[in-house]
Parts: sequence; structure tokens; C-alpha cells
Amino acid sequence: MMTRSRQGVPGTTVGIDVGGTMLRGGLVGPDGSLRDVVRRPLPHGPEARHAAVLELARDLGQDAVAVGVAVAGVVDDGRLLLSANLGLGDIDLRTALVESTGLPSEVVNDAQAAALAEVRGGSAQGLVLVVTVGTGIGGAVVLDGKLVRGRGFAGEIGHVVVDRGGLPCGCGAAGCWEGLASGESLRRAAERVLPGPDRTVDRLVAAADSGDPGAVGALMEAAEAFADGLNGMCAVLAPHRIVLGGGVFARGGLVADVYRSQASTRRWVRGAEITMAAQGDHAGLLGAGLAARDLVAGPPTGVLAAL
Ligand SMILES: [Zn+2]
Repeated sequence: MMTRSRQGVPGTTVGIDVGGTMLRGGLVGPDGSLRDVVRRPLPHGPEARHAAVLELARDLGQDAVAVGVAVAGVVDDGRLLLSANLGLGDIDLRTALVESTGLPSEVVNDAQAAALAEVRGGSAQGLVLVVTVGTGIGGAVVLDGKLVRGRGFAGEIGHVVVDRGGLPCGCGAAGCWEGLASGESLRRAAERVLPGPDRTVDRLVAAADSGDPGAVGALMEAAEAFADGLNGMCAVLAPHRIVLGGGVFARGGLVADVYRSQASTRRWVRGAEITMAAQGDHAGLLGAGLAARDLVAGPPTGVLAAL
């Protein structure tokens, strides 16, 4: 393990967000503020990507006491098991970060990071379920401001099987929730019901907006699948608050309205406060930094004193 050449700024952590094309990092201060944000293009190839993440963590880690990294993928106890979008995995990313920076490090998935950013680590009491609907469906559970991790992948709600024998999923199962209600499933619906060459989700929504029965039906089918899945999550978790985020909700308009209104009719969803994700582009790296803060939080006799 490397020895740090400088003392990190107390309470300041590194947050890094490994996106599909871009690597972003910054310093998260004790007050939750974000500064020194840097963007670097994500190089091609798993080894170069791995090295680029470690290099950015080292650079920013000079001024911090812990490192948090958010990745779009399945994370199990600091190990990135699978990230189909990034072409990374199976790698023990947390151990590599600790060895590379000499700092306590944490790895969370992007939905978990976004969830921490939404509740601003510690400010929200009760149980919050964060659901991100983008290409797939991700999720995270936050209890009294702390991320519920379990073995690491708590909140992988998109991979609950709701349609046994249904569409094959990247996780290896078939009939996962995200296969019926994600942005990708809307794209497939557009291909199914729209005429012509340009069968996009935008056109599907426009057609539904103008009352096209096929488009309305496809959108309602996805919204009902979303509502049924969320209903199941709420039966398990009984959340006080549900935060809806990700690309599908960021679109706003008809899709977001229909998804939300369908969900709010369901038995176990009713009674939960439903809000829209408020954090923008920096939610991932802010949340990663907040996750790292958990490693060094507590009285001075704790981990911090041992650094
Ligand atoms: Zn799956």
C-alpha cells in the first residue's frame, strides 16, 4: 500500500462517477458541497479504463480522506461483478483503490450513488426507495440517510423476475422487471407499434400524445408493468418516500406522468410520498463521495483517528 504524501482535508472525500463515455470526479466537502470537478474521457478497453479510474482517484485523493466510486453495474462487497455497459468486471475495484490511493475506499452502483445524493446522506429520516428508470431499472434503499447495502447489491430491483419465461435479461435470468418497463422496453415498443424507419421513443410519445391507439396502448402497458413492479417493492419495503429518477422520468411529459399516475394507484404504493429526483448531472459523483464519507464518519476514536 502506498503511503500518502499529504494529509487529506478532514471530512473531504473523493467522488468518482464512471459513466458510459466519461469519467468524472470531484471533492465532496464536509458540508456536502462539490468542488474541483474534473472530466476525463473514458479510454477504450477494460485495462485502460481500470487504470484511468485509479489514476483519477490518486490525483484527487491527495486532498481527501476517503474515496468513493460509482459505476453502472452490479457491485458485491466492493467488487464490480458485471458492467455490461462499460465492459468492466469482474474486478476487485475497492481493493485496487485502497492499494492505489492508500485511502479507505468504497464502490457503489450508480443508482445507490444517485440515491445518496438525493437524500444528502443523513438529512432524510425514514425509509426512502429510489428508483431509476433509464436503459434498465436500478434502485437503492436508504434508511435514515444511510444506504442499505447488504452484501453490496441491495436495490437491484430491476432484476426481480415478474414475467417467468419472459424476455432474456443481461443478468442471466428471463422476465426481469426492467425488461417490461425500462427505457429499452419503450424503445422496443416503439419498434413494434410505429410505422416507418424512425421508430424512436420520442415518436412513440408524440404518437401517444396525439391519441394514436397503438402508441397509447404500448405506453400504458409499460406504465402498468412499472406500477405492478413498484407495488411489489413497496409491499416488501413499505417506504415513506419514493424518489423517481433516471432518463425516463427526466423526459418529463406524458411518459413520466403516466408512469407516476399508474404507480400511485397501486395498493402498497399508496400512502408513500412520491417525488422526482432533483439532483442533476453530478448526482453520481456527489453520491459516491457521500458513500465514502460513511467510511470515515463517527467519533475521532474511530477510523479517522487511525488514518
Ligand atoms: Zn435481469
